[in-house]
Amino acid sequence: MNDVQVSADGKTQTKQVGKYKVSVTREKCIGAGSCEALASNVFKLDEQNIAVVISQDGNTDAEKLLAAQSCPTNAITVIDTETGEQVWPK
Ligand code: SF4
Repeated sequence: MNDVQVSADGKTQTKQVGKYKVSVTREKCIGAGSCEALASNVFKLDEQNIAVVISQDGNTDAEKLLAAQSCPTNAITVIDTETGEQVWPK
């Protein structure tokens, strides 16, 4: 994981950019919300109570993976962008 300095509105903040890319299969999501609870900068429930990915880099890779593993229906897929391998579901 790399730390990237991001300057916004004159303020500098550290943004964590990971290698995991997550996606949600809408048909599988039952709106349980654990993904949002564990990685709230990446996952959000939309107006239909289905999870959507709002950002890839608001949480760490570990948090994104934990969120995916917490999903009761395996609706979240995690891809390692460095190797191209699917990390979750196995
Ligand atoms: S944990 Fe799974 S079922 Fe629950 S909101 Fe997230 S994607 Fe949907």
